[in-house]
Amino acid sequence: MEIKNFTVFGGGVLGSQVSWQAALHGVKTIVYDINNEAIETCKARHQAYAQMFTQEYGMPEEQVKKAFDFLSYTTDLKQAVSYADLTSESIPEDLELKKEFYQKLSSLLPEKTILTTNSSTLIPSMIAPLTGRPKKFLALHFANPVWAANIGEVMGHKDTDPHVFDIVVNFARRIGLVPIPIHKEQPGYVLNTLLIPLLEAAQTLYFNGVSDYKSIDKTWMISTGAKVGPFGIIDLVGMNTVYNIIMLRYKQTGNKSLLARAQKIKEQFIDKGKLGVATGEGFYKYPNPEYQNSDFLK
Ligand code: NAD
Repeated sequence: MEIKNFTVFGGGVLGSQVSWQAALHGVKTIVYDINNEAIETCKARHQAYAQMFTQEYGMPEEQVKKAFDFLSYTTDLKQAVSYADLTSESIPEDLELKKEFYQKLSSLLPEKTILTTNSSTLIPSMIAPLTGRPKKFLALHFANPVWAANIGEVMGHKDTDPHVFDIVVNFARRIGLVPIPIHKEQPGYVLNTLLIPLLEAAQTLYFNGVSDYKSIDKTWMISTGAKVGPFGIIDLVGMNTVYNIIMLRYKQTGNKSLLARAQKIKEQFIDKGKLGVATGEGFYKYPNPEYQNSDFLK
């Protein structure tokens, strides 16, 4: 099955990137969001990406401009899906909101439409029964930023049709991703299953006063050859997300030291507006963080 019409639900941080990536690869893409303000924000993000691709990545202007020919926007959900072969959902990470959304969506979809979620923490089986088409429902999880961290984690649930799974793997490849097929439901997919324990261990070393954040990053970068260490990654992920992950772990485990850690992140960073790369400062200062200096690893 060829994917001719692609619909992205939610034009926020990730939805704007997913729709841009697809359009840049010549896929006809429509973005649905709840109101005009959200649509305008998404359009502004697309303009900013266009500028970034020409000025920073050196892509020919003609090629970048062409992406806009493949993009359209709507606040009408029925219109968003009337021709959809495939959809990608990036609405907020709230199970009740997503359930409500899929229930509403189910009556509007053409028979052919395949549905994917980009949820980072929910697994497809939590939502599948509400879609009205569990065989055609699975996750296609993007990393941020989509074009640079270009993996596409494809994860079904036990009733996902293997043929549909393959269609999504092929689509991921077509829009410039390296598909990562995941054969069993796994909260956190592959990437976050690896990454979250690393970031937690780094935080434990730092907040317990075992070592300073730069030395911890140097250790990781020198010994693995990575371009960025755990605290550089924390700045990229953003302090709000890091705080939410720690609080989630606290609620799951009741471990009071996690609550104390979340409090420190809030006081030292969030309350001071130091949210990481997005606001120009987290552990490091941006746009030229110290860990990128040639003598940082000396
Ligand atoms: P965001 O808050 O930036 O964007 C959410 C968008 O959804 C907003 O534009 C909002 O107006 C819209 N929205 C709200 N309610 C809606 C509804 N009922 N129907 C349609 N649209 C609605 O959030 P985000 O960071 O883009 O995250 C969205 C999803 O992507 C989440 O499931 C998250 O787990 C996943 N994700 C995020 C990242 C990341 O780095 N931010 C990475 C991978 C996956």
